[in-house]
Amino acid sequence: MVFGIGTKNIGIDLGTANTIVYEEGKGIVLREPSVVAKNTKTGEVVSVGSEARDMIGRTPESIVAIRPMKDGVIADYDTTVSMMQYYIQKALGNKANKPYVMVCVPSGVTEVEKRAVIDATRVAGARDAYTIEEPFAAAIGAGLPVMDPTGNMVVDIGGGTTDVATISLGGIVSSRSIRMAGDKIDEAIISYVRKNFNLLIGERTAEQLKMDVASASVEAAKDIESQSIRGRDLVSGLPQTVEIEAVDVAKAIQEVVQEIIVAIKETLEETSPEIAADVIDHGIVLTGGGALLKHLPEVISEATKVPVFVASEPLDCVAIGTGESLKSIEVMKDK
Ligand code: ADP
Ligand code: MG
Repeated sequence: MVFGIGTKNIGIDLGTANTIVYEEGKGIVLREPSVVAKNTKTGEVVSVGSEARDMIGRTPESIVAIRPMKDGVIADYDTTVSMMQYYIQKALGNKANKPYVMVCVPSGVTEVEKRAVIDATRVAGARDAYTIEEPFAAAIGAGLPVMDPTGNMVVDIGGGTTDVATISLGGIVSSRSIRMAGDKIDEAIISYVRKNFNLLIGERTAEQLKMDVASASVEAAKDIESQSIRGRDLVSGLPQTVEIEAVDVAKAIQEVVQEIIVAIKETLEETSPEIAADVIDHGIVLTGGGALLKHLPEVISEATKVPVFVASEPLDCVAIGTGESLKSIEVMKDK
């Protein structure tokens, strides 16, 4: 088969929190939050990406900042299409031929959800679209030897979902996807601060607090400095600044951390003794933004008795793996 000169192959990590575009031969060419701001009256797109994210919680009535992906899948189809269209054009330029696109989907999505991703990618400007399972892409991006006859475990903690998978011989052996990840941690912080401090804080404030001081271990949080946060006092209704201890933030997020550990343990229990033994030898690799949560590797390692590592550039692993898998797109095109 001969393809048009200048037709590019790109990989898109369509994440709940971030969208990353990888261009074959170039690497990552775009990294933006998965957020679109729209005019509520006309439906017109006002801005996309970081500019739109900065509007979350700050929009007037006429504008709404939408995160079109939820729990790893498309929640708002039209907005997802607008967002992808904008990113594909931004990454490749307006004059580029329609690219072939590989997009990742969480493991365990339904056929309908997968179909929606493929359709949205085509409508957004792809010549054709193919999907790859996210944990598999994450493992490739983390540099794991996915094709070898040996078991590897990857845990990808994103905004919407945590995907746990064991991989061997180029396939997923066992996997679990739970809707417990970065967003749930933010929500837990918001609700803890509201209950214990009578303070209402926004999503962005909670996320910042998480990145700065949240720890998966309550014990280790004692050594992390407190942080002052601003929100609205629920009693007076007025703006208020409160000093929050890192231990409190750690307590707030414990439930989510424990759920992630349960998912990892269950996936380990489901694997064959050989693969479990391989995982004990090689350790578990963490990817996704959630992998950056302080003290998470130690806490998971303690609970599972398996060594745990954070991949280098955890936020980029899925995009890199999706991009690398473009090499197989030539084979898929003929199908
Ligand atoms: P997705 O693939 O779902 O788009 P990402 O892998 O891009 O998600 O990760 C985004 C999530 O990681 C967000 O919930 C973000 O708050 C979280 N995150 C990013 N950096 C950190 C950090 N340093 N500590 C804890 N969480 C983080
Ligand atoms: Mg992801």
